[in-house]
Parts: sequence; structure tokens; C-alpha cells
Amino acid sequence: MSSLEESLRSLSLDYLNLLINGQAFSDVTFSVEGRLVHAHRCILAARSLFFRKFSVGRSRRLGLTRYPRGRAGRFLYSGQVSIVPQKHEPRPNCGERGCWHTHCTSAVDLALDTLAAARSFGVEQLALLTQKQLSSMVEKASIDDVMKVLLASRKQDMHQLWTTCSHLVAKSGLPPEVLAKHLPIDVVAKIEELRIKSSIARRSIDAPPPPPSSPPPRHGCRRGSGGPEDSPNETSIGLVGC
Ligand SMILES: [Zn+2]
Repeated sequence: MSSLEESLRSLSLDYLNLLINGQAFSDVTFSVEGRLVHAHRCILAARSLFFRKFSVGRSRRLGLTRYPRGRAGRFLYSGQVSIVPQKHEPRPNCGERGCWHTHCTSAVDLALDTLAAARSFGVEQLALLTQKQLSSMVEKASIDDVMKVLLASRKQDMHQLWTTCSHLVAKSGLPPEVLAKHLPIDVVAKIEELRIKSSIARRSIDAPPPPPSSPPPRHGCRRGSGGPEDSPNETSIGLVGC
């Protein structure tokens, strides 16, 4: 690790310590479902659009129905996050012993929770990092998990993730009636559209080139002059094709 990286890491840990120590230097307290959360206005405002709008100029004690906890909360303070669970850590939704949790259901669920928290609190940097992480996870994830991520990407308006997942679902070969059990009908229609487009593209790639003996087109690509020798058909080819 370079000395610059080391110094950035230590600065980030200083902020994280503020979170861990809770009340120290806190200037706002949120009451979240009966529990008190001590926080620091300027840190929340710097990273979260939600807190920038919500807590500026308001009293020291505010009621909230939700608060970013876990990874989203740590990211607010430290600007750093690991979106995948610790390898071998026992996790819900992962029965596999010794799993590295790189793309299992548990890892996907954790990333989706982080994405939802990032979007709902307006922490765009975290949303982008999570989107990137999910894009690489889905390449190896089960098709059920890919469909789950596809729906989340639609809900959260994450276009890159939508594109990646919709192509994976299209390539899965699952028939529309099976897709319809997991996805809304308009999403199934979009997947079918993709399949049609890619089969047309494949057909044009697979199409054999014209035999070498075939004669060149009579008129090639030219605009119709409208002269007496131009038949109406040739004129229209020239205008449309060039
Ligand atoms: Zn796992």
C-alpha cells in the first residue's frame, strides 16, 4: 500500500471511529423505531442527498422511520465499503459450507439491500459501486438470482445492470412461460424482444457470403437520376439504399 493510500485509509478510519463512538462530537440525534442514533450532520450531508435535505437547519433531535445501518452506514462515514460478505462467514441464504460468498444468493441479497439503502438515502457513489459489484456477480450467479437483480435494476433505474441482466436472462434459454412465473409480463416481453433481435443478428452473421461467381449488382449503389433509362424500381433502390 502506498503512503498516500495509507494516509487516506487512516483519515477514513478517523471518521469511522466517530461512528463507532456514537455520541462523541455528535450534533444530531435520530430516533429510529424507539432507538437513539447519534450522528454528525456535516458527514451525513456530505455524502447523502437525503440527509442534506432532511436535517439542515432542523432541531438536534429528529424522528426517522429508517436509518442507513450496516454497510450503507459505514460507507456514509468512511467512504469505504466491502459489498461482499466475509468469505466463510456463516450467512443466511447460504447453506454451502466454506462458501466464499462471491456470487451466492446470500451475497446477491446483501448487495441488493445495500443498493436499496444507497438509493433511498441518495448515496449515489455507493449505488454506483454496488451496481458494478452486482454486474460482475450476476455473470456467475444462479438464473433465479439474476432475475431478482434484473427486477431490482428496473426498480432502481440502473441501466447498465438492467442491460447485463436482461441479456443473461435472454441467453438462459428459459421459455417465456417459465420466465412469467418470476417476472412481470412486460419484462418477459422485453426479454423475448432481445431474443428475436439477437437471433436476427446471429442469422445475418451466420449467413454464407454470396458465391464468388455471382455477378455484381447491375447498378450498385447510386441515386436514381430519374432519367428515361431508370425503371421506377431501380430509382427506389438507389434512394433507399444509399
Ligand atoms: Zn455463500
